[in-house]
Amino acid sequence: MHHELADDAALYVVGALTGADKSAFEAHLSQCAVCMAEVREFAPVVEALAAAMPNATPEARVRRTLMARLSADSSI
Ligand SMILES: [Zn+2]
Repeated sequence: MHHELADDAALYVVGALTGADKSAFEAHLSQCAVCMAEVREFAPVVEALAAAMPNATPEARVRRTLMARLSADSSI
């Protein structure tokens, strides 16, 4: 794992972080180039997934797909 909060970046992009978790991550994001890069990297992925599933809400299904991609990318 290259960064302990990297998983949170994916969750943040899909809107899965809420309340205190979201606030904490946003605070961290403003100071962390690694997480900012993660968010920028995931944003187009989320948009592509949303476009592929226009009637689906970005919840468990998207999160699973995204987390699978994260796992595949964990060697970075
Ligand atoms: Zn970070």
